[in-house]
Amino acid sequence: MTTVQATFDSVDPATGEVVGTHPIAGPEEVQAAVDRARPAADWWASLGFAGRAERLGRWKAALTRRAHELADVVHAETGKPHADAMLEIILAIDHTAWAAKHARKVLGPHRRSPGLLMANHAATVEYQPLGVVGVIGPWNYPVFTPMGSIAYALAAGNAVVFKPSEYTPAVGRWLADSFAEVVPEQPVFQVVTGLGATGAALCASGVAKIAFTGSPGTGKKIMAACAETLTPVLIEAGGKDALLVDADADIDAAADAAVWGGFSNAGQTCVGVERVYVHERVYDEFVAKVVEKAREVKPGTQIGPITMPAQLDIIRRHIDDAVARGGKALTGGTVGARFVEPTVLVDVPEDAAAVREETFGPTLTVAKVRDMDEAIAKANDTTYGLGGTVFSKSRGMELARRLRSGMVAVNSVISFAGVPSLPFGGSGDSGFGRIHGPEGLREFGRPKAIARQRFRAPLVLTTFARTAKVDERVEKLIKLLHGR
Ligand code: NAD
Repeated sequence: MTTVQATFDSVDPATGEVVGTHPIAGPEEVQAAVDRARPAADWWASLGFAGRAERLGRWKAALTRRAHELADVVHAETGKPHADAMLEIILAIDHTAWAAKHARKVLGPHRRSPGLLMANHAATVEYQPLGVVGVIGPWNYPVFTPMGSIAYALAAGNAVVFKPSEYTPAVGRWLADSFAEVVPEQPVFQVVTGLGATGAALCASGVAKIAFTGSPGTGKKIMAACAETLTPVLIEAGGKDALLVDADADIDAAADAAVWGGFSNAGQTCVGVERVYVHERVYDEFVAKVVEKAREVKPGTQIGPITMPAQLDIIRRHIDDAVARGGKALTGGTVGARFVEPTVLVDVPEDAAAVREETFGPTLTVAKVRDMDEAIAKANDTTYGLGGTVFSKSRGMELARRLRSGMVAVNSVISFAGVPSLPFGGSGDSGFGRIHGPEGLREFGRPKAIARQRFRAPLVLTTFARTAKVDERVEKLIKLLHGR
């Protein structure tokens, strides 16, 4: 008797049309993928940095050649414009290249100073692969976001089992298939498709680490599931990022950044701008420019639909609540059946949902502040701590340091995500751990410390043959070194 595999559909959110049907991997299928990945991980690790970099280089070239094909898949499943899909693919390619090129330098053996007491030793540290890494991804940037874990985990010498979002399974499948074409020898990078339960099965499968990107609520469930087996987790969750506009800022550039940061990808960006705090001296000018620019952004062409239908209710609730509590929508404010008009809200109380909760739609709240101290205090008054933006000619770096977030763009927006050498991640409800950069590579390695004796020390401490005289000398030495 053959059992029928359960399936689910992925749909085009702009039309509701089914664009693909995918298997739901149950616990057995997930376990089988992880079991297949174990020998693949050993083989991949045995290739060394150079062998892996060469293969990742070939994959990167294939992704580049076929980027438009992948962008079509992203467009079909998320509804985002083809050009925006290209943008995230280009960034993912650049990150893959960086991870492959820098893995040896970051993770390979490094000498450490042994210190005076252990001067007869050579001390080294190197990052060894973890084994099989499970990656669980979201739908909003279905290439760029998971690739921040996948490419870095692969470059660090791990095999990967990836559970893409149920909204973008074909994107995940495409990525794994394209990798298998370049690396056909072993299943180094596999995909398991399904709903939340498939992700939960991956957490319970005995992988060496789970790298999760998604909402804080799911992040908590994943951490609880992983606690059962002490499986370490990396959590990249949501945000409520603020943009600060100082009195001396380039107002036109700041308004442009607010509009793009708030409305691109229909606001479905973890590091999208959701709140704006503007110095009172430039508030009126800024608001006028933002509203003018927001009116030019056209849903359907420049921004796509809301990918997840349930999100429409959240966006509507945030706008309605803001307006009911004295706020005004200077433009937009309408939530359609699939699309949301870019919406600029002013005079919204700071405790309204539109200011406190992640909206994940094309909305901005704009508030006037006395000075930048008030802007910092309000921006930091959030349970999230992901990204942020500062527009200021004279105080950009100072204000950036004072924002309680993992990343800040000064006089531009979301720029940190495009710099492969910079770590990406947050704190609080935004999660913990980092993807991208050297820190992102180290997330997927296990530090291995080795102390090698080079010659016998005059004072040997680790022996029962140690004499009272040796103890006396060591005591003298430590007093000399640290006693004053
Ligand atoms: P989500 O939390 O609903 O789902 C994310 C993934 O988790 C999906 O693959 C889903 O199937 C899986 N999942 C659901 N329940 C699970 C469970 N119990 N066990 C294991 N896996 C489970 O998030 P989403 O709606 O896909 O993504 C949007 C969220 O992601 C937003 O909050 C956004 O801010 C955040 N995000 C964060 C970053 C970042 O880097 N910090 C990047 C992109 C998106």
